Amino acid sequence: MRILVMSDIHANYTALQAVLKDAGAADETWCLGDLVGYGPDPNAVVEEVREIKNLTCLMGNHDVALTGGISMETFNGEAKRALLYHEKVLSPANLDFIRSLPSAVKVRGEATLAHGSPRDPLWEYILNSMIASLNFDHFETPWCFVGHSHVQCSFTQKEKGTRVVVQQTAPNVAIQLAPKMILNPGSVGQPRDRDSRAAYAIYDSEARTWTPRRVPYNIAEVQKRIREAGLPEKHAARIAAGW
Ligand code: ZN
Repeated sequence: MRILVMSDIHANYTALQAVLKDAGAADETWCLGDLVGYGPDPNAVVEEVREIKNLTCLMGNHDVALTGGISMETFNGEAKRALLYHEKVLSPANLDFIRSLPSAVKVRGEATLAHGSPRDPLWEYILNSMIASLNFDHFETPWCFVGHSHVQCSFTQKEKGTRVVVQQTAPNVAIQLAPKMILNPGSVGQPRDRDSRAAYAIYDSEARTWTPRRVPYNIAEVQKRIREAGLPEKHAARIAAGW
């Protein structure tokens, strides 16, 4: 199966559209959470995701804040401002969809899916080899796909207890998967790896390959909507620079 794996759309509808178009036909779509937060288009993003066929979608930490599952005080002031705006504008049906998302890990074939990490699915960032190595004992499948850090990368553990190799993965270069790996498709709507293009990955479950991809989108258009909605200027600035 050809599976589109994406994460952290963060209410950026233009980036989502670019990813769906660029990815082409997929047998399944796995979304690792954070449909909302930061961006100007929470309703358009949730509506588009709801339409995707054969979808597995997890809840992210920004999503759970909107369901009342945790306090918004957990977020910094600027992130909280966007969430309060989303809370105000989201339609009841879209909010219901977010509430229906699972916050625990999901296993799909040879892959475990988590928003943050397999041992702390909503909150933990896997950003370095130390945190990654602590997580390899928390999933049984050969590989695990995570989002949350907004960095397109891979973590490889050759043997149990050995050093974990971290790599920022190159777009369009297929990686042959081998046990055990943790892979991050990057963020659709707010990349933080100094590449402003929307990030995602294609997972081929038969060939056991993972291909990171990047696609440019009209960032200025999204910045305009961020400003029109009165959201923090920082959210507009960062999507242009990829941080
Ligand atoms: Zn996120």
